[in-house]
Amino acid sequence: MAPEAAPFQRAKRGGNPHGRAIISAAHLADRLPVIASDLGTGVEQLGGMIAAAATIVPFTGAGISTECGIPDFRSPGGLWTRNRPIPFDEFVASTDARNESWRRRFAMEPTFATARPGRGHLALASLYRAGKIPAIVTQNIDNLHQASGFSAEHVVELHGNTTYARCIGCGQAYDLPWVRRRFEATGGAPDCTVCDEPVKTATISFGQAMPEDAMRRATELAQQCDLFLAIGSSLVVWPAAGFPLMAKNRGARLVIINNEATEQDDIADLVIRNDIGEALGPFVGN
Ligand code: NAD
Repeated sequence: MAPEAAPFQRAKRGGNPHGRAIISAAHLADRLPVIASDLGTGVEQLGGMIAAAATIVPFTGAGISTECGIPDFRSPGGLWTRNRPIPFDEFVASTDARNESWRRRFAMEPTFATARPGRGHLALASLYRAGKIPAIVTQNIDNLHQASGFSAEHVVELHGNTTYARCIGCGQAYDLPWVRRRFEATGGAPDCTVCDEPVKTATISFGQAMPEDAMRRATELAQQCDLFLAIGSSLVVWPAAGFPLMAKNRGARLVIINNEATEQDDIADLVIRNDIGEALGPFVGN
């Protein structure tokens, strides 16, 4: 079952103002995609870039959490192969959609509740503690960066967080056990006790407005770092996928760690096409 949470809009890079067209010719001159020849070489090159960087900003996607038992969206067996996402307008308009959304979320609870940070999370938390990472930008909704040691204020969540709920009208927060009790008592998705609007996981669904503060902070981070690490994202969900391009365009080095090709590999300074836990494991505790 899928969490109800899911992002908003997608667009082809060429059709998006954040797309590749904003990469200047100067950035592309004299460069080719740099795919590490093997894992060891990739780890060594990444270590050199980390050592040389003053400010590193990681940008993570569902792939960093697959070793923690949380399926991603697009891999074989991923959540999208099992459930069609429920868009925001459908959630708002339909009682059935809200009930189905919550049934899916409850079905995922054993997975989310037992997941613990993986090697990727722990490596990034080590670099955060070392003062190299000021804050992390994530598309994930699983709270595992906070669990790994990042202060909540230093986790910029572009797509929200599925470990609690909010009223879509007034924003009142609710914990999931409260939602579940109400669901079981009434046989359906609860409404807000303050304003009667529907209560939803605190996530951003397709068609839902992006969180302005998170977008602003992610923009600042992407523009101010000298090393940007895109980790475990297929980089097809916009506007989030614009941040690696933005960082690159502002002069940061870009590293992509993903076990399959992404559409932005050709602008990266280093591509590590391996398992994230294997690639980042050597940086745990450093
Ligand atoms: P995605 O599913 O589109 O892409 C994940 C990428 O990670 C894929 O390219 C996959 O090949 C790669 N990958 C998976 N496991 C890997 C591993 N162990 N090592 C290396 N690469 C690996 O995910 P996305 O780009 O983050 O976009 C999907 C959206 O889905 C997110 O915005 C998020 O809101 C939501 N989502 C979140 C979670 C979560 O919080 N853990 C899980 C599923 C979906």
